[in-house]
Amino acid sequence: MSQRCVIPDAFKFAADGRRLEGRISLAECSRLVEMTTSAEGEIAYVLAGAQGDDGKWQFELELSGTLRLVCQRCLTEMAWPFELASTLLLVRSGEEIPEDELEDDTRDAIEVQPDLDVKQLVEDEILLAVPIVPRHERCEAPLPSGGATKESPFAALSGLKKPGGVQ
Ligand SMILES: [Zn+2]
Repeated sequence: MSQRCVIPDAFKFAADGRRLEGRISLAECSRLVEMTTSAEGEIAYVLAGAQGDDGKWQFELELSGTLRLVCQRCLTEMAWPFELASTLLLVRSGEEIPEDELEDDTRDAIEVQPDLDVKQLVEDEILLAVPIVPRHERCEAPLPSGGATKESPFAALSGLKKPGGVQ
């Protein structure tokens, strides 16, 4: 289940019109796990090689899953379900990314190395999309137990900051 998935030659993969589909367990994505409250779950991906309208080789990458983040307003856990679709222009490592590609909003350029690690690629794309300041649309602040309504706001805050303080 945790076999490492690499693409030996991204350009050949694209030229052959190949497609790769799978799931990556979140626990294997250490950079994502760092910002989540739970490492449980999976990321589903579909990676397809394609040729752009301009004849350049690219990847179409679709990702979906859910991360558990910490809401920066109420400091409790929040689910961040995502569905991402990106077009990635393949650039050989060491090659300059053309100026007009940097301004192109429809696709991002990625430098590809031989033996491209699919997990790294997936992780990179999600990291780019994760909200910098995640917030619930509407926070439901947990009610202080014991009915102490006159509690100081600072005491309430320190309670919320405790790990696992979600009630
Ligand atoms: Zn919140």
